[in-house]
Amino acid sequence: MSLHRDPAARGPWHTLEADEALAAQGSDGVKGLSSARATDRLRQAGPNEVQDGGERTVWHILWEQVSSVLILILVFAGGLAAVLGKQVDAIAIAAIVLLFVVLGVAQEYRAQRAVAALKQMSSPQVRVVRDGRAQDVSSRELVPGDLVILEAGNVVPADCRVIESLSLRVQEAALTGESETVEKTEAALIRSNLTVGDRLNMVFLGTAVTFGRGRALVVETGMRTELGRIASMIRSVRHEPTPLQRRLDRLGKVLAVVAVAIAAVVAIAGWMRGEDVSLVLLTGVSLAVAIVPEGLPAVLTFTLARGGQRMLRRKALIRKLPAVETLGSVTVICSDKTGTLTQNRITATQLATASGWHDLRGRVEGDEPDLLLMGAALCNDADLRDGKAVGDPTEAALLVAAAGHRLEKARLEKILPREAEIAFDSTRKRMTTVHRVEPGGRVFLGLDVDALFLTVTKGAADALLPLCSGVLQGNRIVAMDDAARQRMIDANDGFGLQGMRVLALAIRPLDALPERLMPEALERDLVLVGLVAMIDPPRAEAAEAVAVCARAGIRPVMITGDHHLTARKIAADLGICREGDRVVTGIEIERMSPAELEAIVDEVAVFARVSPEHKLRIVEALQRRGHVVAMTGDGVNDAPALKRADIGVAMGSGTDVAKEAADMVLLDDNFATIVAAVEEGRVVYDNVRRFIQFSVAGNIGKVLTVAVPPFLGLPLLLAPVQILFSNLLTDGLLGLGLGTEKAEKGNMERPPYRPQEGVFSRGVGLHVAWLGALIGAITIGAGWWAWSLAMADGLLTPVETLYISTLVFSTLAILQIGRVLAARSFRQSAFALGPFGNPTLLAMIAVALVAQLVVVYWPGAQPFFHTTDIGLTGLLIGVAAAVTVLLATEVEKGLRRRAEDDPAQEPGTGRLASQRPAARLQDT
Ligand code: ATP
Repeated sequence: MSLHRDPAARGPWHTLEADEALAAQGSDGVKGLSSARATDRLRQAGPNEVQDGGERTVWHILWEQVSSVLILILVFAGGLAAVLGKQVDAIAIAAIVLLFVVLGVAQEYRAQRAVAALKQMSSPQVRVVRDGRAQDVSSRELVPGDLVILEAGNVVPADCRVIESLSLRVQEAALTGESETVEKTEAALIRSNLTVGDRLNMVFLGTAVTFGRGRALVVETGMRTELGRIASMIRSVRHEPTPLQRRLDRLGKVLAVVAVAIAAVVAIAGWMRGEDVSLVLLTGVSLAVAIVPEGLPAVLTFTLARGGQRMLRRKALIRKLPAVETLGSVTVICSDKTGTLTQNRITATQLATASGWHDLRGRVEGDEPDLLLMGAALCNDADLRDGKAVGDPTEAALLVAAAGHRLEKARLEKILPREAEIAFDSTRKRMTTVHRVEPGGRVFLGLDVDALFLTVTKGAADALLPLCSGVLQGNRIVAMDDAARQRMIDANDGFGLQGMRVLALAIRPLDALPERLMPEALERDLVLVGLVAMIDPPRAEAAEAVAVCARAGIRPVMITGDHHLTARKIAADLGICREGDRVVTGIEIERMSPAELEAIVDEVAVFARVSPEHKLRIVEALQRRGHVVAMTGDGVNDAPALKRADIGVAMGSGTDVAKEAADMVLLDDNFATIVAAVEEGRVVYDNVRRFIQFSVAGNIGKVLTVAVPPFLGLPLLLAPVQILFSNLLTDGLLGLGLGTEKAEKGNMERPPYRPQEGVFSRGVGLHVAWLGALIGAITIGAGWWAWSLAMADGLLTPVETLYISTLVFSTLAILQIGRVLAARSFRQSAFALGPFGNPTLLAMIAVALVAQLVVVYWPGAQPFFHTTDIGLTGLLIGVAAAVTVLLATEVEKGLRRRAEDDPAQEPGTGRLASQRPAARLQDT
């Protein structure tokens, strides 16, 4: 792509001067590439992507499916059928297995594609210069020769040679394992054989810009980058199953063992009774097939992927699929304040200076407020474009306030141009800019001092006041005494009590700049100009979401960089805490041991003046208390806490680094969206549990239907292929239908599922046991009835045998329809739900019913499924069975509702709302 791609001809990129590197890539240091050229190169070089091995090929998925325990059992069953001379059964089993594998692969592949599409959506935009204009392009479209603009918060999008560095610092742990940040330079390096960590004029794909700004020339993209090379080495990384998938995998294995054991016992018992060996073996195989829940993996993947899509519709973008199910178990949501709980519509309304208060809603006049607004516009990275503010909302509010008093930033910068800056960072909680004072500026400032330079520092009052030794009074600088200091502290607290956000602003006139523009040298002996107070009203929907959390047993916790009084007022307005509740600050956290923090973390709902490092400690403390924690963040420094949290939540407006570390991205930055995602997570969890409950009860019924009759002297009531058909098609389809069930009423009015809670908890175990027994009793009863009729003449003809098993097969299928209708809700009556609440399920029922009728009544299918025409009577028996099962389940639900509504009862299945989540976790 480049003119001299051969390193032998031009040496490695870091040994070239910046302009040599630009020339070698045929690019321009100011204009970048032309669009035409970029398009051309994209065609040649391919998209800038690293295949990390997380994606599996179709073959991979196929192998996973084929090598699963379930399939192996089925293959064994088919083989055995073939050996026993049951060719038709063997072929039918093979066909069903094939269908199952194809469906499974298709389902998995679709789910994977859905995840890839989600990933694609969250792939970062990169700011590049092309045709001399800065523009945003998707990082996939980056090509060698592109000029990218980097700033704090970006993930470096490709391997680049740095062309310009303004204190550009990068954290390269992803490549070098070194967590200390490295300052990048433009200068060429002499030695050619430097390690990645020592190439100080290069930045590499996947590393994070933590500070400063810069421009860099892309030299390698995609798999040719350093990260790409590592990725190609570890391409065989295995696909990570979700916790639920893992648990169900275990369940599948246990069931497989149980299946083999029961099969063996029944077969041996039959053999000891002197029955036909092939019949005994066939019974064993049927049993094994009956127990294993074949449809489970497909239903699970389907339900998870669908859950992810539903969350996206509610503005929560899932980046990692396991998050879909973990969300359902969240017990604590830790949220930022600004923008997430508040509207982020910040407006500056008041000023406080040495001479008193000034209300910005009217006109303010005087040297102090003038200089305060001037400073606020100068020490500011936001911009006003066409009357609209772009940039950080706090800074934008300051610009708007200053412009309202005819102090426009652009005009001010002409007479007080910015020379240098120390960027804002949320640990220091302040920022500083350095301005050269042009002759005109001196007059404009109106200060009673002559100075060639002026520094302006703005930040949290408590971070700034200790650095001030003077205070502005009129146009004079006077020493700051204790009384003046106390007045400012009181003003700050007063604003905080009203829930206002406060920034302090200080200046320092200088005759010469210090040699090194470090914080220690610039941010001392400051002159306080005053405070700016801003309002940022709480979001109405956040208050509603907090109320939902309270009912759902989830504790919202506010973690903010803002002042503790401001934080408490907003939190109280939202219902997160009460007016007088304890607020813990970052300084207090600093002094606490992990054990001390753990001791209070359950009681505190507001943490204020915290730095990102404290967030990590809070997450860890909560997790040690047994909580499942969702944590929001938007900055680079939030990444460790986001990674550590069970659900890391990044803001859509946040940095790429935060998004990369997160499990979920809030497209609208809204707290209510987290709660919506939790609700969807609970739906997913419920649907999976519904399906398990449904299919396991059915399978128990089938096992009894096969295992018990031989002991009663009855013939085999179900052929293996019939069992398979009912497991995969009837139950599978109905199960998929259940997987699309919507949120159950009261879904957010019960405590979260514990992550380690088994799938058979909350009464599900008991339910499947009695229901399985009932299903077994009904089918065996039907078989018994048909058998008695047939035996009236003392003889069992082959046709009669066929009739008996077809009747049982058909009854089982139709009965499952009654069962699936009842299974739509754990608590609510099926009759109260209304029949049309789940159209997908209705469609699945229709398909399953037609399929069942076809294999029973269509002569072409009968030989394969060992079926025969059972007439209308046979059908009606099935319908009666369905109604029986439906009613029985409804009676159970009714009893359970009564028990739960009776406060004296200890409920087995649900409401523990009066208990705090933490207390519950400890009980278990
Ligand atoms: P949250 O963490 O809830 O989003 P926050 O925005 O106040 O709250 P930070 O961005 O970490 O959290 O800011 C911490 C403090 O730093 C603020 O309370 C404010 O006093 C100060 N601050 C915020 N933005 C700026 C800025 N652009 N310049 C100077 N100081 C700032």
